[in-house]
Amino acid sequence: MKNRIVLLGPPASGKGTQASLLGAVFGIPHVSTGAIVRDERAKGTPIGVEADSYASRGLLFPDELALRFVGQWLGTHSRFIFDGFPRTIGQAVALNSLLEAKSIGLQTVYLLELPDDVVRIRMLGRLTCSNCGAVFSEKFHKLSVGEPCPKCDGLLARRQDDTLEALDQRLAQYHEFTKPISDYYEAAGLLKKVDVRFGRDAVFQLLYNDLYNDLRADS
Ligand SMILES: [Zn+2]
Repeated sequence: MKNRIVLLGPPASGKGTQASLLGAVFGIPHVSTGAIVRDERAKGTPIGVEADSYASRGLLFPDELALRFVGQWLGTHSRFIFDGFPRTIGQAVALNSLLEAKSIGLQTVYLLELPDDVVRIRMLGRLTCSNCGAVFSEKFHKLSVGEPCPKCDGLLARRQDDTLEALDQRLAQYHEFTKPISDYYEAAGLLKKVDVRFGRDAVFQLLYNDLYNDLRADS
């Protein structure tokens, strides 16, 4: 069965949610570099402290640091669903070398596709609880700014970086970095494109079937 998987996708494509659902159903560790970093920071390891120096200044981690995290993690794991990694072509090539050194390879890369205008609508309609951090959709949950959080009664607000300008910048950066990565995986015969306009459950069903059929083919 396929258990070395990468999920790529723009903001609001639900890749974190899908990675966590698939991970739970198939018993594969769901890994985001953000989560590894939080873990190391909490443990106060040297690499965690180094990462903190970037995070506290609001900077993205350099390729080299992200790779050290992933390399360290792969030292003790050989099954994974990566979400939000690799973020650059440099990281994708380096991940390949890390896996080759373990004599294993990636098995599937899902590219979650969502048109930019849908990403904008989803992101700009997002409300975040200023107390517990829960995220709600204005439209779907029928909530608006300033209303109490359904979970904890905290105040719902729009995140500062959820402005149209900041979002367009993130999207431009996403496309710039992701195009070479998806080309790279397509050339390797690993890329599967998934249209995620139809919502979380439909997408999950599709990914589930894809992995499950593979499981049956193996047995
Ligand atoms: Zn809350």
